[in-house]
Amino acid sequence: MLISGQKHWKGVIHLEKRQFKAESKRLLELMVNSIYTHKEIFLRELISNASDAIDKMYYKALTDEKISFNKDDYYIRIDVDRENRVLKVSDTGIGMTRDELDDNLGVIARSGSIAFKEENELGEDCDIIGQFGVGFYSAFMVADTVTVISRGFGSDEAYRWESQGAEGYTIEPYQRDAVGTDIILKIKENTEEEKYDEYLEEYRLRGIIKRYSDFIRYPIKMEVTRKRLKEGSESEYEDHTEEQVVNSMVPIWKKNKNELAPEDYENFYNEKHYGFDKPIRHLHISVEGAFSYNSILFIPEKAPYDFYTKEYEKGLELYSKGVLIMNKCPDLLPDYFSFVKGMVDSDDLSLNISREMLQHDRQLKLIANNIRTKIKNELEAILKEDRENYEKFYQSFGRQLKYGLYSEFGMNRETLQDLIMFYSSKERKLVTLDEYAGRMPEGQKYIYYAAGESNERIDKMPQTELVADKGYEILYFTDDVDEFAIKILRDYQGKEFRSVASGDLGIEAEGEQDDPQADAGENQELFADMKNILADRVKDVRASKRLKHHPVCLSNVGEISVEMEKILSAMPNNPNLKADKVLELNTGHDVFKTLKETFEKDKDKFDLYTRLLYNQALLIDGLPIEDPVEFANDICRVMQ
Ligand code: ADP
Repeated sequence: MLISGQKHWKGVIHLEKRQFKAESKRLLELMVNSIYTHKEIFLRELISNASDAIDKMYYKALTDEKISFNKDDYYIRIDVDRENRVLKVSDTGIGMTRDELDDNLGVIARSGSIAFKEENELGEDCDIIGQFGVGFYSAFMVADTVTVISRGFGSDEAYRWESQGAEGYTIEPYQRDAVGTDIILKIKENTEEEKYDEYLEEYRLRGIIKRYSDFIRYPIKMEVTRKRLKEGSESEYEDHTEEQVVNSMVPIWKKNKNELAPEDYENFYNEKHYGFDKPIRHLHISVEGAFSYNSILFIPEKAPYDFYTKEYEKGLELYSKGVLIMNKCPDLLPDYFSFVKGMVDSDDLSLNISREMLQHDRQLKLIANNIRTKIKNELEAILKEDRENYEKFYQSFGRQLKYGLYSEFGMNRETLQDLIMFYSSKERKLVTLDEYAGRMPEGQKYIYYAAGESNERIDKMPQTELVADKGYEILYFTDDVDEFAIKILRDYQGKEFRSVASGDLGIEAEGEQDDPQADAGENQELFADMKNILADRVKDVRASKRLKHHPVCLSNVGEISVEMEKILSAMPNNPNLKADKVLELNTGHDVFKTLKETFEKDKDKFDLYTRLLYNQALLIDGLPIEDPVEFANDICRVMQ
């Protein structure tokens, strides 16, 4: 939003006050007033931005012969002016043009953080903000005024961006000899709670850099002052200042695993903004041979807020010989592992490789296959050794694994079938298919499942009665994808899946119960009449084998179940596929006796009862009643 109303600024006004986009403004307010305890991460954020900017420049220089290339030209510098309370972070990166200053710093890129905060009703001062890595704006946690002087690559002009926080910012032409960026922070005065002075202390800054940014691949230079003996003197000291490189510069993935602590990986995860959670596992891979690569991968604990939306982009950072060539290379991860974060560095890839060529690159395919196997093995290991964490992971990403089973015509079953879990009627927790199959009693033909909205609702489904009574375990399908995925899987270890609502349960009727088929003969006319009344709303009306305590339920014949019908009809391009429903009646129930009496005596009432029973069955299955007014009237008639 522009106060001046001037969209195209060029040559119009030199200094104009501009406002932040609404969201950024709110985030800024949060930053300025943050009581976030790890304010020090602002430096990590600024250094990480600087490193990204150098990455871009470095890559350009390496791949474009017209740009002269000298490795020493790429660095980050930290300057401190204690007297004036100024901390400066400079880089020789790609810089920003006037428009980029406006676009990049006027609106927050990671707008999702606010949405996330609101969705989760998190308080103003929650730590989430810091963990999100809100980047540049975190500078306002420690500074009253932030000034950015930048000259973008390919531009002769430099600009100065300045802001005191939520009020807005100014941009004006400025002088800067070389391409690159200076971020200048006017550090806040100390308050009773907070000593901002520490961000002007050399040793403290060094500590922060060591802690969070040690692996940055470019030198982070800083003037370091030390006392040393005056020349020619034996006892007199003088201050000596020299420039030092503070970070070790070896990227973490090139380090030996044994040298690294879990915190190092966590820092890397945060520094890279891979996620705002604490990853459940990291994998550090070094492969040498027919193809070689180094990789650090993370399995997150929580799904990003946009994970199950179209906006989510999968991919790993791709480096070639230590140089970042792509931020998110999608070809390295199959969709079903799209939650994995991390990076791959390979010497086998060309720096100049284009997006299209990458897709067909043989080396990249080999690496991708290798990575897929490693992730699968790691997930299996977590499932085996660390069940609690696996379940946490599964709550977040199980759905994605099941989508993976369903997609590509079940091609990924070998990879995925042992990673999925379902809630079990008996165990009352998530179980694997292997666990289920391993304890199936003799005589149980199928793996039974029940599909419904929630575990609580499935618990009460009449259709589960017979299977549960037999003592068989039932898997609860509560995700929309579950039944579709299982239809593709068809069987597990040779055991077919069977819905408790399907026509044939493969369970013999119990001896003590009247044989429903015999009943069926006796009640043939009654059922036929009901079928007539309900017309094509049902495929058939039958005596039920599966009901114990309920008078009525729906089952289905054919491929599409009632749950699937619900899901399909909620789809935007509703394919209008319906389940072939069968109305099942419990002939042992008192209600059936009443029904039988009316069948013989009162045709009108029989009509009414048939409709009521059918509508009841719909309601129990969570299906809409076709004519709710008629249903209400029917109930009134019964009561009158
Ligand atoms: P993020 O880095 O996550 O995108 P930031 O708010 O930290 O979010 O930065 C916004 C954008 O501003 C960056 O994406 C980048 O384009 C630009 N930017 C920030 N710092 C620099 C810098 N030192 N040099 C060049 N561009 C920068």
